[in-house]
Amino acid sequence: MHLIDSHCHLDDYADLPAILANARAAGVDTLLAIGIGDGPDTMHRALDLAHTHPQIYATAGIHPQEAHQATPENLAKLTTLAADPRCIAIGEIGLDYYHLNNPDIPTQQAAFIAQMQIAAAARKPITIHCRTSELAIPAAKAKFEPADAWEDLLRLIAEHWTPTALPGIMHCFSGNEDQATRSLAAGFYLSFAGNVTYPKSTIIQSVAIAAPADRILIETDAPFLAPIPLRGQTNEPAYVAHTAQFVAQLRGITPDALADLTTANFGALFPATLSASPRI
Ligand SMILES: [Zn+2]
Repeated sequence: MHLIDSHCHLDDYADLPAILANARAAGVDTLLAIGIGDGPDTMHRALDLAHTHPQIYATAGIHPQEAHQATPENLAKLTTLAADPRCIAIGEIGLDYYHLNNPDIPTQQAAFIAQMQIAAAARKPITIHCRTSELAIPAAKAKFEPADAWEDLLRLIAEHWTPTALPGIMHCFSGNEDQATRSLAAGFYLSFAGNVTYPKSTIIQSVAIAAPADRILIETDAPFLAPIPLRGQTNEPAYVAHTAQFVAQLRGITPDALADLTTANFGALFPATLSASPRI
């Protein structure tokens, strides 16, 4: 079985060789390492890994929580990273109205738009982080509401991304059916993470059942969000196999079939990975 982890953070593992060996043993033979670093100063780290590991591809981007660091200098750095063939997407970028300490809405939106423009110029897909204030603390709700991150996100995508005709990924898709439908209509893939396995995630589960077979991906978002039965532990790419098994069961197909279709979808989205990636 060939599985792909479409979104993982590999910067902070004490023993990365062991993490990669575990992934290989679980059939996870391609990884997309997210290059946000601890902020723009270290957003090149994922690309460094992609240059030294044939099974790793990278993104680069400025996370919405660091949107205030989307300075001309850091955007120029991103433009340089985006030109690298091993950097296959820009992200994770988007909007996060959940954390009180996040930059204000205009700052986040400006950083998002600037990075969509860099991705468009490089002709590379974007991978999106979107979090609403729905479950936020009262002070964060007071800061961000009545704005809705999904409404703002889809509006900015329609304005700044749809004209490029390029695709993208809704990373760790955690929206509702309507947001899924609108994301698909905008040409995005829905990537399901460990939280789809959680009992309360009934809406995400119904989206995972209904989504077109040619538009779904799976990911860990490691080291966060470990799937059941490993919930609460430090997540790692090998565990995407649990999410694959769960989504396969939801959709009434075998884990092998789910692995095949998500691997094919990743290849359709990133054709450069088809010829370049040696299967381990
Ligand atoms: Zn992430």
